[in-house]
Amino acid sequence: MTQPPLTAFDTHIDIPWPERTADGLPAWEGGAREDVWSVETARRFTVPKARQGQVGAVCLAAYIPQATLNTAGIEAAWRRTQAMLDVIHQISSGGQAEDVRLCRTATEIRSAIEGGALAIVPVVENGYGIGDHPERVAYLAQHYGIRYITLTHNGHNQLADAAVARGEDARKYGGLSDCGRAVIVEMNRHGVLVDVSHASKETMMQASELSSTPVFASHSCARALCDHPRNLDDEQLDRLRETGGVIQVTAMAPFLRRGGGGTLEDLVRHITYIAGRIGVEHVGFSSDFDGGGGIEGWQDASQTHHVMRALQEAGFSRNECYALSGGNMLRLLEKSEEVADGIVSRGSNGLFT
Ligand SMILES: [Zn+2]
Repeated sequence: MTQPPLTAFDTHIDIPWPERTADGLPAWEGGAREDVWSVETARRFTVPKARQGQVGAVCLAAYIPQATLNTAGIEAAWRRTQAMLDVIHQISSGGQAEDVRLCRTATEIRSAIEGGALAIVPVVENGYGIGDHPERVAYLAQHYGIRYITLTHNGHNQLADAAVARGEDARKYGGLSDCGRAVIVEMNRHGVLVDVSHASKETMMQASELSSTPVFASHSCARALCDHPRNLDDEQLDRLRETGGVIQVTAMAPFLRRGGGGTLEDLVRHITYIAGRIGVEHVGFSSDFDGGGGIEGWQDASQTHHVMRALQEAGFSRNECYALSGGNMLRLLEKSEEVADGIVSRGSNGLFT
């Protein structure tokens, strides 16, 4: 029996988001969308580059920078969240739409890959725009098909404490706020994964206890190998094993090696360490391209097959490489779909109806 070709599921990529006009609105008529179809661009992720690099699926992130925690800031973030998700939908239905497919479920992702299309999964990085409106999660899930929300970015928001504060106290809530807890319940209900990259350790540990679906880190590395606050320490990794979660080791040099200069070798070293500690079924990789990611040996999406080759050379079996290159992420997405279905079939009072 021949196995299908190995493709990668890159779980964190930032999208083209051009300069803003003076009033803060996107000025992306300037060709930012076209950019994702070209090879001749400084962007690390484009569709042709992804195809060259044997990428099968990508999470494209609507990234929301953290700003002031007041109504004006939150409402601006909410508008930007939707505008960026609109861009992601437009990318997925672009002029060469047969090459890409917007996917809302694991089944759709698998069938896009089998059909030779690049599966695009919309996600949100930073729950800041949700404000104290947990019902916005349902809207993002139903209208845009988002599959994860990174609880915070750098700086605490109204949901939780971040790993990296922005000139404020290191802790605001000591983990999740009440609002953050309500948002996680909504995320579980709508099959939206809880992404703990950027969250503080307390936030991560509390979220992993509360969430009915295992939490995951879409772009973080191992703190035992590189002491950076954005990385997960051994206790957090063990929690992922206990709960069935996943960490996607990311191509961000400062998270891979102290003092920077991280390479593809370092990325594989982190993956190998985590697989050794908590099992190969709890780890994968992501690029964070166009959000700061890109390392020697994996500079852009056209080189993503280098990662899979390096994993094979490091001694991972073909099946293990499938798990690392997207199998684990697909399993997690399926799990979140089952949990959401289960909540719906039990009814809102938690009883089976
Ligand atoms: Zn990030």
